[in-house]
Amino acid sequence: MPETNKTETELDAVIIGAGFSGLYQLHCLRDRLGLRARVLEMADGVGGTWYWNRYPGARCDSESQSYCYAFSDELTREWEWSERYPGHAEIRRYLNFVADKLDLKRDIRFSTKVTSAQYEAADNRWHVATDSGDRLTAKYLITAVGCLSTANVPKIPGLDAFRGQWYHTGQWPHDGVDFRGKRVAQIGTGSTGIQAAPVIAETAAHLTVFQRTANYSVPARNAPLTPEFKTYIKENFDEIRRTTRSTTNGHPFVISQRKVFDVSEEERQKIYQAAWTKGGLQFRAAFEDLLVSKDANDTAAKFLKNKIREIVKDPETAAKLSDIDHPYGAKRPPIDTDYFETFNRANVSLVDVRADPIAEITPTAIKLESGAEYPVDIIVFATGFDAMTGALLRLNLTGRDGLKLAQAWQAGPRNYLGLQIAGFPNLFTITGPGSPSVLCNMPVAIEQHVEWITDCIDHMQRNDIARIEPTEEAVNGWVQHVNDAANATLLPQAHHSWYLGANVPGKPRVFMPYTGGMATYRERCNAIADNGYEGFSLSA
Ligand SMILES: Cc1cc2nc3c(=O)[nH]c(=O)nc-3n(C[C@H](O)[C@H](O)[C@H](O)COP(=O)(O)OP(=O)(O)OC[C@H]3O[C@@H](n4cnc5c(N)ncnc54)[C@H](O)[C@@H]3O)c2cc1C
Repeated sequence: MPETNKTETELDAVIIGAGFSGLYQLHCLRDRLGLRARVLEMADGVGGTWYWNRYPGARCDSESQSYCYAFSDELTREWEWSERYPGHAEIRRYLNFVADKLDLKRDIRFSTKVTSAQYEAADNRWHVATDSGDRLTAKYLITAVGCLSTANVPKIPGLDAFRGQWYHTGQWPHDGVDFRGKRVAQIGTGSTGIQAAPVIAETAAHLTVFQRTANYSVPARNAPLTPEFKTYIKENFDEIRRTTRSTTNGHPFVISQRKVFDVSEEERQKIYQAAWTKGGLQFRAAFEDLLVSKDANDTAAKFLKNKIREIVKDPETAAKLSDIDHPYGAKRPPIDTDYFETFNRANVSLVDVRADPIAEITPTAIKLESGAEYPVDIIVFATGFDAMTGALLRLNLTGRDGLKLAQAWQAGPRNYLGLQIAGFPNLFTITGPGSPSVLCNMPVAIEQHVEWITDCIDHMQRNDIARIEPTEEAVNGWVQHVNDAANATLLPQAHHSWYLGANVPGKPRVFMPYTGGMATYRERCNAIADNGYEGFSLSA
């Protein structure tokens, strides 16, 4: 039945977001379980991350044969990737292909932002409000809002009065930005900034990169896929799927079991060099102990810092770029196409804003605390996201007894398995904080969550279960376990990382993703379900 504004549409499930997560969740609930399900999406198309992130150089760091759904042989057979790492436009085409193939768009309401959702015990339903005036109710509410979907624009005094143009990479204009003849400032040198700078530098009159945190990067070595590799993907997808589902981080490569000091210095250098030549995220698979032993990590860090000094010709710039203060892999490890080489161009310069922070943006320039001014026409904020909790908190969720999510998470996110929050019955959070999410090749994490949620809902429907939510005890145990797992690695040592929420002023410093590994996590989730949803309270 067509819905009209201001009417209340009754559904079984409302799903928020039409990226990888929301699309698959809709397919599972509608086509597998036969439920009435609807997706609400604020963009006017599918794609999620790849709808919004269209900045120059925007490209996936996961290899294409693994950055896709694995649940359908038909989808795998019919789709063909063109490059080792798919670019944003190709991923959008892929997700549109999936949405069309599974006939999903008829149940997605685009250009519709969820503004609040409230659980009412009286009817055991979520009441969802949107900015277009729609009201929907559903027994189940599933957030598929993404870990990296809330752009973080730093509050720098003077930005409002800036007379040039400014953009955040995660909200990039669909018709692109013309940098020709312009003086461009790029603020931020994380994975995004590292992808964007080389491409911006190709056309800008001048590019000034403002770096607060120097970062490692390994060459991506992107290239068109050969016909042989395309055939390999088609013929060996079962094996690829087995690998991505059994590895710690959901990537199609296996982390070596050898330890850094099991081999001689000479052998180690050969291994690092081979990994550097091969390129990509596989670099961190060179040794087992890179993310748990500081001494081991130091050897990789030294190798990568030396590479920067070899590539960058100006010694002062090379020194700033290689002055990296955290272990390799403790922040999201970027991969690049000519990032460090870009600083050898005559039209590119680097400014160290850790040494001399940005004080303000004047109508025509970026001004540092020392008083130094850099006149610019365009500012590009490659400053990342209010990651993992930002989009969830902005949903204005109210659970049982009027409990607001902002209250429940005042001191940081608290949930069970990253999937459910105490006090918020029948709410499921796909790749929520406390799950492997961003430490994993995400389609793998997403499929696991969506399938677990689908099985759980199926179980509830078949057994007339009205409500599910985790017990406080289970939440306490999980939060502790997530902390312990993080502290067993070097990851919390990157004090300014977005994994810790440190990029957003005022955000509680809690290590958010689960470092225990995707394969272990999957087993644990399955065991919990098999044991009658241990740690959850289910009521008729
Ligand atoms: C630049 C960049 C590069 C990345 N590279 C990789 C990579 O190499 N490998 C990898 O595994 N992952 C990568 N990721 C992570 C990426 O986010 C995931 O791989 C995946 O796309 C997440 O899918 P999702 O559906 O869970 O969330 P998203 O794709 O983020 O989709 C969430 C959707 O929810 C919508 N939404 C949010 N709030 C609301 C609301 N209130 N109302 C309505 N709609 C709402 C958003 O508009 C968005 O469309 C990258 C992310 C970024 C930003």
